[in-house]
Amino acid sequence: MSVTQQQVLDALSRVASPRGVPLTNANVLSAISVTDGKVFFSINVDATEARAWESVRAQAEAAVRAIPGVSTAMIALTAERKPGAPQAPPAAHRHSHGVQPASAHRSPQGAASPMSKQAEIPGVAAVIAVASGKGGVGKSTTALNLALGLRDLGLRVGLLDADIYGPSVPRLTGIHEKPQLNDDRKMIPIMRFGLSIMSIGFLVEEDTAMIWRGPMVMSAITQMLRDVAWGTLDILVVDMPPGTGDAQLTLAQNVPLKGAVIISTPQDLSLIDARRGLAMFKKVNVPVLGIVENMSYFQCPECGTRSDIFGHGGARHEAERLGVPFLGEIPLHMSIRTTSDEGNPVVASEPDGPHAAIYRAIGTKVRDRLQGAIAAA
Ligand code: ADP
Repeated sequence: MSVTQQQVLDALSRVASPRGVPLTNANVLSAISVTDGKVFFSINVDATEARAWESVRAQAEAAVRAIPGVSTAMIALTAERKPGAPQAPPAAHRHSHGVQPASAHRSPQGAASPMSKQAEIPGVAAVIAVASGKGGVGKSTTALNLALGLRDLGLRVGLLDADIYGPSVPRLTGIHEKPQLNDDRKMIPIMRFGLSIMSIGFLVEEDTAMIWRGPMVMSAITQMLRDVAWGTLDILVVDMPPGTGDAQLTLAQNVPLKGAVIISTPQDLSLIDARRGLAMFKKVNVPVLGIVENMSYFQCPECGTRSDIFGHGGARHEAERLGVPFLGEIPLHMSIRTTSDEGNPVVASEPDGPHAAIYRAIGTKVRDRLQGAIAAA
């Protein structure tokens, strides 16, 4: 039996709000999305009231989860600041909306405190972001192959596809099943290629992912980080949404990142975007582990001849200029694309080939930069 919107509303009408009326009469609910037992909506309140509403958000979520047939309930609490209200902490200055992630720590004022970033994920030694200033530079392909390169170094590795606007990990890995829940109602990541993998694309259809409201992005990603039974991992690689807008900044600020890897192509435009990415992580005090130049040069699949069609080397020079480590160059090669599109990434399908060696070399540099964090855990 499929879950209806009316069932969700009925459940929510039994949750009291701080305004002394049922939640459904408090004029705070966004549109409610119900698809295949997955329920998404947000509770929108003024930032000054946010603390009082956190427990309501949790009660609402519990009420929705208790409806027979509901497999997932993601409820965001979004706190809008009124014009002239006190400013949020520096890193959030540019936001007109402050987002209240489900499980972040709060300061007494109800704004995200620096602690929210420190909230580690139990069992996960280091979370790293793979980011790009814009889409289409091969960020997801690199994130997955880098995760596999790290796996080849003997590390326990997870991959979280947080590219909520266009999750590509289902396609890149060929995973089309939905995650199961364990006894604690946490989602069990899908194991493939020796990686623990989770993607928003396992839960919603690709076109639904495109229409998420901004504030819901953070809540969904926080839940994927914390409501997933990751087990013990040395490194969790997060494939970030492309770009450097508010959603990405909030994510970088709220996810307990030990570092970030920036993917760029050699073209100037992409480097300008990459610079924005660097600035974003600097702003939220996340160390940049380095820059990877993807599609660095063209390698002929027939004869192996190398052509520097994009004027290769731009990312290396830029990294040197900015004092950021340069992690490596990945060629534009047919087999990287075809293996990705077949759901069988090149490091897994051609483990002895030259491309796998490149991703492993990049993985080695990343691991060495994270060594302290992994050893400490
Ligand atoms: P993004 O995550 O930045 O949007 P994707 O990883 O989805 O980018 O890659 C975009 C396209 O480019 C995909 O078709 C992918 O197979 C291809 N691609 C990525 N990196 C390479 C590469 N080094 N060589 C050949 N094709 C690549």
